[in-house]
Amino acid sequence: MDVAFPFSCRLYRKNAEASSTLGAGAIRGSGDFSQKKQLLHPLFMLDQLPPEILARVFEIGILAWGISYLPPICIVCSAFNDVAVTEPRLWGIVTLTKDSIPSLMETQITKAKAAPLTVYVDRRVRNFKLYPVIQRLASLAENWVHADVPLSTLALCSSSDLAKSLLDLDLGRPVSGDYVSLANTFFGTLDSPIQTPRFKLRTFRAKELAKRWIIPFLSPQLVQLELCRLEEQDQALPNLFEILRLVPNIFSLKLEQIHYRVMDITTPPVHLPNLLNLDLVKVLFPSRILTKIQAPSLTTLSISGSQPSNDDEEGLSAFFVEWFQERFLPTHLHTLELIDAVDKPSIPYLIRWLSRLKRLVRLTVRDDEVGEAALASDKSNLFTALATPSEEYDGWLLPSLMELRLDTGEMSVERDLTPIARARGGIACLPQLDTLSEAFRPPGRLRFLEAPLCPNGFEPEIEEIKGLSDVVICGCLGCSMNLNWDAL
Ligand SMILES: [Zn+2]
Repeated sequence: MDVAFPFSCRLYRKNAEASSTLGAGAIRGSGDFSQKKQLLHPLFMLDQLPPEILARVFEIGILAWGISYLPPICIVCSAFNDVAVTEPRLWGIVTLTKDSIPSLMETQITKAKAAPLTVYVDRRVRNFKLYPVIQRLASLAENWVHADVPLSTLALCSSSDLAKSLLDLDLGRPVSGDYVSLANTFFGTLDSPIQTPRFKLRTFRAKELAKRWIIPFLSPQLVQLELCRLEEQDQALPNLFEILRLVPNIFSLKLEQIHYRVMDITTPPVHLPNLLNLDLVKVLFPSRILTKIQAPSLTTLSISGSQPSNDDEEGLSAFFVEWFQERFLPTHLHTLELIDAVDKPSIPYLIRWLSRLKRLVRLTVRDDEVGEAALASDKSNLFTALATPSEEYDGWLLPSLMELRLDTGEMSVERDLTPIARARGGIACLPQLDTLSEAFRPPGRLRFLEAPLCPNGFEPEIEEIKGLSDVVICGCLGCSMNLNWDAL
C-alpha cells in the first residue's frame, strides 16, 4: 500500500518545529499558560513511548481496522511514522477481501519481508485477479502465525510449512468443492503417513468441517477449541469425544449448533482437568454432551438456546443430576449463565444442583420457563429458593452470590425479587445468629441485581429494591435510558 510518507514527513517537521519552540519556552520558565497546556498534550508523551510499545498499539489498530489504519497514523509525528515504516510485523497483518486491490496487496506483502504473518481471507473472495496474491501468501506458509481463511486457501499451502509456526487457526468450509478429498493431498494418507505433519496450534476454530479436517490439527498443546456445526456424517457422539480426548489440556471449549439425536450410553466420560470455560450455543440435547464431560476446574458455564421444542424431548435434568455427584461437581464454578436453556421439569434438579455451588458469584437466568414454573410449584420456585435457607439444601443456596441477572417472563418485584434482595444484604429476616449453624448464617451481600423491574412492579417497590443492593438495574427497554451510568 502506498502511504504518503513524503507528506507525512513534511507535516511532522512542522509539528517538530512547533514542539521545539514550545520546549524552549518551557525551559526559560515561560509563564504562558496556553504554552504549558500544549506541552501537556498527549502527543508530547506519545512520541516518547518506546517503539516496541507503539508497534504493539498499531498492531492492535490494524487487527481492528485493517492496514488502512496506518496512513493516518504516519502523519501524526515522525516517531509514529518511523515505527510504521520500519516494523515489518505491522505489514504482515494481511486482510484480503473481495474489494482488495492486487497491486497494493503485493506491495504490503513485500514490506512484510520475513515477518510473522496474520492472514485473513474473506470467504467471498472470487476475484481471479487476487489469485496470485493468495498463491504468494500460500508460498509464505512457514511464516503464518494466525490464519482465518477458507479451507480452499489453506489447501494451497504446504502443511509441513504451516506446522512450523501456525498457532491460531480459524477454518471454515468452502462454499463449494470436494473439500474432503483435498484432505488427502494436504495431510497425506495412511499410505504416506510421513506427510502428515505435527501441528502446534494453541487455538482452533472449525466451522462446518468434517472430522477428517479437524483431527490432524489437534494436540495436547491446544488450549482453546471452538466447533460449530460438524459435518453431517460426524454428528455422532463418539466423534465428538474422539475429538475431545485429543485435546486433554484445553481451558476453553465452545460448541455451537451441534446436535446428537442418538443417545450414547457406552462412551465413557472424557476428563478435561484444565477446562475453565465451557460454552454451549444452540446445542440440542445438551445433557447428552454434558453428562459425558468431567471438568472439575470449570469456572464459567454458559448454556444458551437449548430449550427442548416440546415436552417429549429431554431437557437438562440428567445433566443436573450427574453434575450433582462428587466426581462431576465443578466446585470452583463462579459464573453460570442459562439463557433459554431450562425446561420446567428440570428446575427442581437445577435448584438442588445450585445448592452445591458454594463459590458461585454470578448467576444469569433468562428463561420464561423459570417464571412459569415458579407459579406452578414450590419445588420449582427459584425465587423462593434464593430468598430463604432450607434444611433440604443444607442452608442457603449460593451463599457467595454477588451478581444476579433475572429475566423470567412471569415475575413480580414485590413477590419474587424484594425477598431475595432483603435476605441477601438488605434487611435479613432471620432469628438470632448464635442459634444458627454456619450454613444458615446470612449469605454474602448481593451487590448487583438486574431484572425487568418497570413491567413487574410499582414505583414504591422499585424504589425499595434499589436501596437494598449496591447496583440495581432495570432491564426493560422502556427505561433503559434512565440507567444510573455513574453506578456502572
Ligand atoms: Zn424499566
